[in-house]
Amino acid sequence: MTRAPETTPSTSEQALERAVFNEQGLLPAVIQQWDTGEMLMLGWMDREALRRTLTEGRVTFWSRSRQEYWRKGDTSGHAQYVRSAALDCDADTLLVRVEQIGAACHTGTRTCFDGDPIEVVQGRVPGEPEPGA
Ligand SMILES: [Zn+2]
Repeated sequence: MTRAPETTPSTSEQALERAVFNEQGLLPAVIQQWDTGEMLMLGWMDREALRRTLTEGRVTFWSRSRQEYWRKGDTSGHAQYVRSAALDCDADTLLVRVEQIGAACHTGTRTCFDGDPIEVVQGRVPGEPEPGA
């Protein structure tokens, strides 16, 4: 039996309670443009960064290299305004849907995944026609 999908959102207190942080006390946060579905970037949050993100309307990360909190856009103007958030099935990854102003990547590209595509062997669903057929 599968359970009916959970429809009542958790409060931020419940999410902070349930979130599972890794051995460094951090949680990976996937940041997605809320309306287009673009994958913008991935950052890390400790409990305090998660609390700020869920309660302040702006995405806050923990910088592992600088050992400090940072809010996207405070220096660049490329802010991320929170629209919704969800923990994954085992509560160890966060998805934040945002309105991204300008570039999400510090290199100036719209997303962190724009600059380095990789050639892959594409899989085809059984029965799917050959490309160009
Ligand atoms: Zn980037």
